[in-house]
Amino acid sequence: MKLIDTHAHLDEVPDLEGALKRAQDAGVLAIVGVGTDLASNEKILQLADRFPNFVLPAVGLHPWRLDGVDLEANARFIEKELSRCVALGEVGLDFAVKTPREKQEEVLQRLLSLAFRARKPVLLHARRAWEEAFQLLQSFPLERAIFHWYSGPLDVLRRVFEQGYFISATPAAAYSERHRAAIQAAPLTHLVLETDAPEMYRGVPSEPADLRKTLQSVSEVKGMKAEEVARHTYRNASEIFQLTQP
Ligand SMILES: [Zn+2]
Repeated sequence: MKLIDTHAHLDEVPDLEGALKRAQDAGVLAIVGVGTDLASNEKILQLADRFPNFVLPAVGLHPWRLDGVDLEANARFIEKELSRCVALGEVGLDFAVKTPREKQEEVLQRLLSLAFRARKPVLLHARRAWEEAFQLLQSFPLERAIFHWYSGPLDVLRRVFEQGYFISATPAAAYSERHRAAIQAAPLTHLVLETDAPEMYRGVPSEPADLRKTLQSVSEVKGMKAEEVARHTYRNASEIFQLTQP
């Protein structure tokens, strides 16, 4: 089985070399490493240089990292490096945090314009802001986007799919009812897998090898064989990130 982890914070994963080895042993052929701020973006790019064609870099600015941030410096860095990345990310909106919505939307708009110009897909975090994030994407309009860990309303989700966007499943597919409902509703042509490592799931930290758990849970939710889910989600990820290999 071929698998791609479409979203992992590799700069935050402990025992990274061991984790990458275990991911390979689990059949993970590539991992999209996402950046959250300047320092994180730099680390992700270094990892991509160290593990070419295995760690695929994405640079971004996370909505949790906006307080006191130098937006100009971040935007300049992203603009400069985006061409050698597979995507813009992690970026987005999160209305569960204190940063004012207007500021979050202004930053996201700025970053989306960079993705639009560089013709790159977007890895989008949109907690409690699914509708707003969708509207912003459409305003450009960006062609390729993954709504990471979708657990929002199903009416917005229907429009996400109509627009040709994707959602990603995380290991929370094992227990989160809202996330499971979204996966249930997702056509296999619009779904990809991820771990969001080292995110904790039910108190246990994750690593990219846990993509197997995501796969297993998605298979259960959809009542399909793991092989079939793997085949589709691998193809989707290859298309989104325009991978010629692996
Ligand atoms: Zn993330």
